[in-house]
Amino acid sequence: PDEEADECLREYRHLLSPDLLAGQVAFITGGGSGIGFRIAEIFMRHGCRTVIASRNLDRVTEASKKLVATTGQQCLPLSMDVRQPQTIMTAVDEALKEFKRIDILINGAAGNFLCPASALSFNAFKTVIDIDTIGTFNTSKVLFEKYFRDHGGIIVNITATLSYRGQALQVHAGAAKAAIDAMTRHLAVEWGPNNIRVNSLAPGPITGTEGFRRLGGKFAEKSSLFDMIPLQRAGNKTEIAHSTLYLASPLSSYVTGTTLVVDGGSWLTSANNFTALLGIASSSA
Ligand code: NAP
Repeated sequence: PDEEADECLREYRHLLSPDLLAGQVAFITGGGSGIGFRIAEIFMRHGCRTVIASRNLDRVTEASKKLVATTGQQCLPLSMDVRQPQTIMTAVDEALKEFKRIDILINGAAGNFLCPASALSFNAFKTVIDIDTIGTFNTSKVLFEKYFRDHGGIIVNITATLSYRGQALQVHAGAAKAAIDAMTRHLAVEWGPNNIRVNSLAPGPITGTEGFRRLGGKFAEKSSLFDMIPLQRAGNKTEIAHSTLYLASPLSSYVTGTTLVVDGGSWLTSANNFTALLGIASSSA
């Protein structure tokens, strides 16, 4: 069972060795909430130290206290904005000062909401591209220059399946995440010789997240829209964290330039129903 709020799991049984990431350090953007928080927790339960970074210092500080108390591992909370390279450089410098190494980068920071293209302002579209796409490039490039180029590393970009079938009301996030999946392949090719693996992980609808609340997940659940998903349900944060653990660990040592879809088969079968989605949008608004 998963926790709805940004809390650590009350019970956890290891399926993999608790030492899987022993001695390693992961830098997780958006690690103070939702999927990013659970990724931090699962990594720490496998021996990893973490840096969790986002704009709101109070949020990451509060999150790090919970993570440290539950796992006994170190977690450094830092404030930075993925749209501002200078703040990323400062955060990465602080992380390297504290831990002397960074092995894994998880690009999880993002922004999203449901909106028809016709009602989307120029600025709203640009903001999502700025945070998701440009933010992912900015953070990857800073990590490359400050550490990965000389030591190797692993990058996992959290994307989405929205563009696969042109999801209604999601032109901004779909375009932003598709560009990240392209970036994953470009960087995997260019940085492979530096022993850097780059992959994307595309979640489906995931309970207990801001994304799920904003995108009307409860409404979809009540209207039985999830019955269309082959696995007949939404996923949870721990399932996403476990798949991310696979991509960030030596279990996937020959995997690079790919996107792992973790959605219970959702994108294959879920209706791209404009009217129903508009209903979800107005109910979640
Ligand atoms: P979330 O809790 O809202 O996570 C987004 C995080 O990004 C927040 O911690 C936020 O923290 C941070 N952030 C936003 N703008 C930032 C900026 N400019 N600079 C630095 N950090 C920033 O959402 P979530 O639903 O768990 O989503 C996590 C990831 O999974 C996202 O990439 C999302 O697109 C993806 N995803 C989620 C779902 C889902 O069902 N939830 C489905 C598909 C994909 P601050 O506000 O403190 O900056």
